[in-house]
Amino acid sequence: MAPGWIAAPLSGVVAGFTTRFGGGSAFPYDSLNLGLNVGDSPENVAANRAEVAAATRAPLRYMKQIHSAIAIELGSDEDGLAEPEADASITRSDAFALGVLVADCVPIILADAERSVVAVAHAGRAGIQLGIIGSCLAAMRTAGAESISAVVGPAICGRCYEVPEAMRDDVSRVTPAAYGHTREGTPALDLPAAAVAQLTAGGVSSVTALGICTYEDDRFYSHRRATHEGRSATGRFAGFIALER
Ligand SMILES: [Zn+2]
Repeated sequence: MAPGWIAAPLSGVVAGFTTRFGGGSAFPYDSLNLGLNVGDSPENVAANRAEVAAATRAPLRYMKQIHSAIAIELGSDEDGLAEPEADASITRSDAFALGVLVADCVPIILADAERSVVAVAHAGRAGIQLGIIGSCLAAMRTAGAESISAVVGPAICGRCYEVPEAMRDDVSRVTPAAYGHTREGTPALDLPAAAVAQLTAGGVSSVTALGICTYEDDRFYSHRRATHEGRSATGRFAGFIALER
């Protein structure tokens, strides 16, 4: 079975989001887990990553994500196996794809295909608060991007992401669009809405939110859903983007 992924609506690039399907990992990582250090075997993860690279016709370069505001540019001359500590990566190279790993946090893929600059960003609660989106946009512009388009991928929605009230207050002070409540009326954060607001405020000319909730749509990994089902572990899916060769 080929690795599953949904295409992202961006022109001039190969971009999308992988699903849980078509990999070789067993429960609770079934089956296309791409995340290291989540309890799955490194051999399974390596095999799944190789399947995705074959399907997308580009080796993916992942990050060691640390919930920071660090955005870095990756050049074509670097060691393809190194995973930099960062939460956004940018490249002008068409030799590889950029990958971001998530299971509820917001994966964002960005491009100015005309100027050959692409990027991915990992925007969880901390990243939204710390400004990873602003860092990513600044790094893209340093690399020559002018007219940036962005796609906000599958992430836990504002109706499902219950948080303590003080946390909702803290995050919505930074970005009011983050303020939300669950179906039951308890405090929640709407991270996809916050991401859209920050992208728009940052001058991104076209923002598309897929509107897919990872908690509700079990094609994708969801850390919160796994926790509610009594499991502490789950896999990670990827947002990815590469310049067309
Ligand atoms: Zn939801």
